Amino acid sequence: MNEFSLIDEFFKTISPGRKDVVFGIGDDAACVTVPCGMELLVSTDTLVAGVHFLSEWSGYDVACKSLMVNISDMAAMAATPTWATLALTLPKLDKKWLAAFAEGLKDSLAQYHIDLIGGDTTQGPLSITITIMGLAPVGKAVRRKTAQPGDLIFVTGELGGAALAVHYLKQPGITEKAQEVLMDKLLHPKPRVEWCELIRKYASAAIDISDGLSVDLSHICKASSVGALLKYSDIPVHPLVRHYRKEKAVDLALTGGDDYELCFTVGPEQSNCFFRDTHELGLQAYPIGVIEKEPGMRLILSDNSCVAYQPKGYSHF
Ligand code: ADP
Ligand code: MG
Repeated sequence: MNEFSLIDEFFKTISPGRKDVVFGIGDDAACVTVPCGMELLVSTDTLVAGVHFLSEWSGYDVACKSLMVNISDMAAMAATPTWATLALTLPKLDKKWLAAFAEGLKDSLAQYHIDLIGGDTTQGPLSITITIMGLAPVGKAVRRKTAQPGDLIFVTGELGGAALAVHYLKQPGITEKAQEVLMDKLLHPKPRVEWCELIRKYASAAIDISDGLSVDLSHICKASSVGALLKYSDIPVHPLVRHYRKEKAVDLALTGGDDYELCFTVGPEQSNCFFRDTHELGLQAYPIGVIEKEPGMRLILSDNSCVAYQPKGYSHF
């Protein structure tokens, strides 16, 4: 089997078959139709073996995670994911691993109605790069640089679970059931696409939490030339993190990566309508603080004192 038969066997026919794909895998480039009134958004994320996942993870799980983290970037922009390309670097031709990888990718593509329209296949240390493309109405993509002082800050879910799985899974005392739940959080992040509509309607700025809440929120702050005041007791913490790391729970929620929740800001005059629509859609947003004019990040502690906070999170270099 060579590179070309590999592509034919594993990747050519795994897409759900979107009508807006003029042609996909097989030519030097793919061709898609961007509907009138929509803009194309493009984002890339790489997962490297030993850095973003362990080589003992199944091909199926690696594929799911690779696509989900990319979908999360589209959700953060309030864009609907539509197409993806895959740059796959493989140490060797392991057909069993590849079959599992292709199966995981197929299931994930189907779940979000995304077509795989191209890619590249090379030999080297295992790494997966997905470029995702998505659509948003003209001018409606939500950016990082548009938060305003006075805006309320929200996150879409409880944090710290994936970080607990990364750092503490093998420590004594964590039950098998809890290990399963935590590993599921790490292996199968659920991109918050259900928030797309509300973020597009209400958010002044948004980001997905891939490296940790504090560091990702600091990207919004820097891009918008503002600061943030957070309430320590309002940071939503995953119940297992509270249970197993009581003292470090909020710290893990503020600094742990890999949760793929969304963090966004909403103008105070919009907040009533935002809460009403959130409730109507059966969603829950956790208010954690407010955007301030003064740069930097501050935390209100349980005793109501206010301290400066240095954002921390995952960084490669
Ligand atoms: P080129 O030589 O022009 O780079 P390739 O021979 O690498 O083209 O790829 C042939 C076709 O297969 C192209 O349409 C390319 O987008 C697609 N392709 C290559 N690798 C992958 C992959 N891992 N997943 C999906 N499509 C792929
Ligand atoms: Mg070519």
